[in-house]
Amino acid sequence: MSLIVVGSMAFDAIETPFGKSDKIIGGAATYIAWSASNFTRPIKQISVVGGDFPEEELSSLNARGVELEGVQIKKDEKSFFWSGKYHLDMNSRDTLVTELNVLANFDPVVPESYQGAEYLMLGNLVPAVQLSVIKQLKQRPKLIVMDTMNFWMEVAMDDLKKTIAEVDVLLVNDSEARQLSEEFSLVKAARKIMAMGPKYLIIKKGEHGALLFHGNEVFFAPALPLEEVFDPTGAGDTFAGGFIGHIARTRDISFSNMKTAIIVGSAMASFCVEKFGTHRLKEISRADIDQRIQQFVQLVNFDIELV
Ligand code: AMP
Repeated sequence: MSLIVVGSMAFDAIETPFGKSDKIIGGAATYIAWSASNFTRPIKQISVVGGDFPEEELSSLNARGVELEGVQIKKDEKSFFWSGKYHLDMNSRDTLVTELNVLANFDPVVPESYQGAEYLMLGNLVPAVQLSVIKQLKQRPKLIVMDTMNFWMEVAMDDLKKTIAEVDVLLVNDSEARQLSEEFSLVKAARKIMAMGPKYLIIKKGEHGALLFHGNEVFFAPALPLEEVFDPTGAGDTFAGGFIGHIARTRDISFSNMKTAIIVGSAMASFCVEKFGTHRLKEISRADIDQRIQQFVQLVNFDIELV
């Protein structure tokens, strides 16, 4: 069993109504790897960083079972930098800065040792780079999951649609689903997006949970109501890591197992938001995760008798 994770590894600067961070470690593939490594190892990471990316961050990921042969280090360049500011509801945010830096000319090379991987998680990244990774794989993985964001809809819609056409599961948030489909109803949006290629669509709705669509079926996973949400950055990536991590661990790509996987993803995301950056993800244990998943079971468990 093996999982390839592709995505940005970055510096982020985050502002929330409760505080402001300096430049901290972020990036889609960073969050995905921290999350998924709770369920499956090794993780075969594909990304690019500059010479400014801390060596100890790479070694702590490596110690978690994340292989870094596919992570290019451009010594004389700067890492990708993203800055965002959250609104009062913490559910929506504005991007303040996106400096592509090393991402601008990233040409991923899939190492020979990554070939034959069963699962591919394409985290948020330049759509053409995501597609290049799919094309380099000699054997199609059992499941290809892709995340993206509004930024790429604005600057690379054609490439984005080409990449979406090649994947099995697409993850987007509700506003991105509306932007991509030009539909307000999420049910109509889902139908249109699945017609673009993916057989499964996950629409994330922040603190309002996530919807999983497949054919005419739909399943809903709530988000855990938390007393405090400190920083939602990376919640979507952490969700994706939990989702694909569970699928890779169980080696089951059925719709019913995907329902469990979105609960696991939601549980992982609920940890991510409790502290700035990746801090909380670095602390939690398997027992914490199991306990949190039980809280989800309690949250949605009810009996109805209709007479
Ligand atoms: P999320 O909150 O799950 O949407 O993910 C936030 C993470 O995505 C941050 O750590 C950023 O570094 C990263 N990110 C933001 N914009 C982009 C982009 N255009 N391409 C790739 N990664 C990005």
